[in-house]
Amino acid sequence: MRIEFDEKLDFQDVLIRPKRSTLSSRKEVQLERTYTFKHASKTWTGVPIMAANMDGVGTLEMALSLQEKQLFTCLVKSYSEREIASSMDKLDPNLFAVSTGTSEHDFKNLTSILNQNPSITFICIDVANGYSEAFGEYVSKVRAHYPNHVIIAGNVVTADMTQELILRGADIVKVGIGPGSVCTTRIQTGVGYPQLSAIIECADAAHGLGAHIISDGGCTCPGDVAKAFGAGADFVMLGGMFAGHIQGGGKIISEFHDTLQKDMRTFEPIYKEIKFVQFYGMSSSTAMLKHKGEVADYRSSEGRTVKIPFKGHVEDTIKDILGGIRSTCTYVGAKTLKDLSKCTTFVRVHRQYNDIYTRH
Ligand code: 5GP
Repeated sequence: MRIEFDEKLDFQDVLIRPKRSTLSSRKEVQLERTYTFKHASKTWTGVPIMAANMDGVGTLEMALSLQEKQLFTCLVKSYSEREIASSMDKLDPNLFAVSTGTSEHDFKNLTSILNQNPSITFICIDVANGYSEAFGEYVSKVRAHYPNHVIIAGNVVTADMTQELILRGADIVKVGIGPGSVCTTRIQTGVGYPQLSAIIECADAAHGLGAHIISDGGCTCPGDVAKAFGAGADFVMLGGMFAGHIQGGGKIISEFHDTLQKDMRTFEPIYKEIKFVQFYGMSSSTAMLKHKGEVADYRSSEGRTVKIPFKGHVEDTIKDILGGIRSTCTYVGAKTLKDLSKCTTFVRVHRQYNDIYTRH
């Protein structure tokens, strides 16, 4: 047994120090980035924020809305070849990935989707634990079959495995174990790594090899997204922040809550309608029952199921997130998102914000 005593940090452990800036307006900030991928040798331009391949988030409708603002979507694994094919004329191939697991069946399914739709450019190979030898071999196999596709692979949280996946053929490594809003891996297994440090260490490893990383999970607000970019993430993937919108396609649950007020004429209690949407982790029992029909004996659920407030159209959320990041850039004097990491100095803090009016 060994203990590492180096302090590792999460988003809530730091703030970004403001710096003198010549920028006078948020409008001046350029959020688009251009990347050339290591193996696929393709150049990509867009706003590097991604919807996660989770039910209620990585939907075709979400991809169509996000692409209007140049944001990216990793589609859920469960879409059939037919469903993807029927949306291909509307989807921008630069702004979505098809997702796959690592079984024989997954590979066959991926092959037939890619054969049917030759314009698909991005493949997201997604497993909860990217540390197995078999996962690395699968990444090599997909690279060998698809030398020109952009391959996203994960999840890992350390520099050694980031390098390994890149050498196996990944263009972009997805980083994050346990930080997710509906993830219970840390409770079920005790395994994880503070997300800000994971980004710093994995980005350094990937950039040294000319590859890229996605920070996946743990962002709760636009400030966290800005911190992820400030730490060196090339892309930031969001689950919970994009959940609860019309585009997710989840059933809207209406509940009437007692406001503890009374109608002054009738003296009847006044109830207020509140709308919710169900959101769950992709390793939760809810997801396993939905997609596999059972929770296998040898597995435990590593995700939770929650009810979150219905948030309407995702366009408003996109505006809120992009507005926040633009503002971060003006605080530190970054004219472009590319400059944000160079302009970032984190300060270690023990308090994030004043919550006196939001305490329950
Ligand atoms: P969020 O943005 O909601 O904090 O995190 C989203 C990420 O959580 C996803 O992209 C995925 O990596 C991870 N995730 C999704 N479902 C589960 C789950 O059931 N268990 C775990 N451990 N992680 C999950």
